[in-house]
Amino acid sequence: MKTYISAWPEKAPLPDFPRSLCILGATGSIGTSALRVVFKHPKLFKIASLAGGSNAKRLAEICAMFKPPHVGVLNNKVRKEFLSLLPSGYEPEVLVGPEGYAQLAAMDDVDFVLSSIVGAAGFIPTLAAAKAGKMIGLANKESLVLGGHLIREACQASGAIILPVDSEHNALFQGLAGNHAEDLKRLILTASGGPFRGKDLNFLKTVTRDQALAHPNWDMGAKISIDSSTLMNKGLEIIEACHLYGLPMEQVDVVVHPQSIIHSLVEYVDGSQLAHLGNPDMQVPIAHCLCFPKRVEVDVPQLNLATVGKLTFEEPDQTAFPCLRLAREAYNAGPSHANVLNAVNEVAVGAFLKEQISYLDIPAIIERALTNHTAVAVTTPEAVLELDKAARKEAEATL
Ligand code: NAD
Ligand code: MG
Repeated sequence: MKTYISAWPEKAPLPDFPRSLCILGATGSIGTSALRVVFKHPKLFKIASLAGGSNAKRLAEICAMFKPPHVGVLNNKVRKEFLSLLPSGYEPEVLVGPEGYAQLAAMDDVDFVLSSIVGAAGFIPTLAAAKAGKMIGLANKESLVLGGHLIREACQASGAIILPVDSEHNALFQGLAGNHAEDLKRLILTASGGPFRGKDLNFLKTVTRDQALAHPNWDMGAKISIDSSTLMNKGLEIIEACHLYGLPMEQVDVVVHPQSIIHSLVEYVDGSQLAHLGNPDMQVPIAHCLCFPKRVEVDVPQLNLATVGKLTFEEPDQTAFPCLRLAREAYNAGPSHANVLNAVNEVAVGAFLKEQISYLDIPAIIERALTNHTAVAVTTPEAVLELDKAARKEAEATL
């Protein structure tokens, strides 16, 4: 490895089993897949805490099933609704808001934090887990885009360990294991190309919310589904890879691979490329992180390459999908530009999901914000949050 964001997990002390879990974003797509893994392997885990956002009903369902002693919710309104839905006799401690999530992530009885809140809201809880020296399964890529440098510092100071949940980064992690950092040539992220692969700008003008939400291979939350369709997801993932693996942007490439069977590749100086293959289901990388270095069975069909038949590859179309270029430019311009990229993307995606703007407005709004942004220092979490808030406010005013 060059300089991994935390101690390299293969060489670090890791918590024993059963591992005590804090799942942030437990009601979402990643959270649900993680609970399926836990349900299948009850002896390997204890659930210390589950946190959701505003979906009180789903949170009450999973809490009634796993009975965590601590729970996190977005605000007092959700707390009230959540408490009203619990079975009698089960009375967890319920913490509220960003501070509550951060407290859950840092609790003494937690070994492993699964960071799977969506968006910038995941940053402070992830940082809290890093400061508290936890083993972290990181799905929330936005927290690295916002403050990867701060999370790196926190891991170095506390001994926290990060394992990448994002399927591409998890594949890269596995391709890097057991090799020498100095022999690495580049990382190659695969991208499915999303539902609009092969379409031109003329077609994209008319795209609807439902068309954009229908990802061909992965079943995911709404925000990341839109990001996948614009290729912003891949842009955020390039930045995520730079932060995780301590590499310059030039060493991270993207190839479109519509079948999503190869999850990414690591290229070495001798010309070897090590690929990670599997059926596209997030239970696989989630289980890899939760149980690392142990491997366990998951409810995903084994890959049969003869049935798949053909794997194809192509260059990404950066004219129809400018978000890939915007993400590279923002990262190269500095941390505050990356912060603005993320904030404005969240605002634009939110507005598109509410049918307030058109599909092609998403990259246009982001490009305008990046052009207008003058770099500022974001060396503290407070500065990161302040800029995130200001960039959102400014973007919302232009909608
Ligand atoms: P999702 O929308 O399905 O779930 C998001 C979770 O975050 C929910 O539990 C929701 O209640 C919670 N949440 C939303 N806003 C919140 C807030 N302000 N405060 C606290 N909690 C809040 O999203 P997802 O698809 O599970 O994605 C979660 C994260 O994992 C994202 O960062 C995404 O990029 C990443 N990821 C997802 C996938 C996938 O297949 N779904 C794959 C790779 C990475
Ligand atoms: Mg991914």
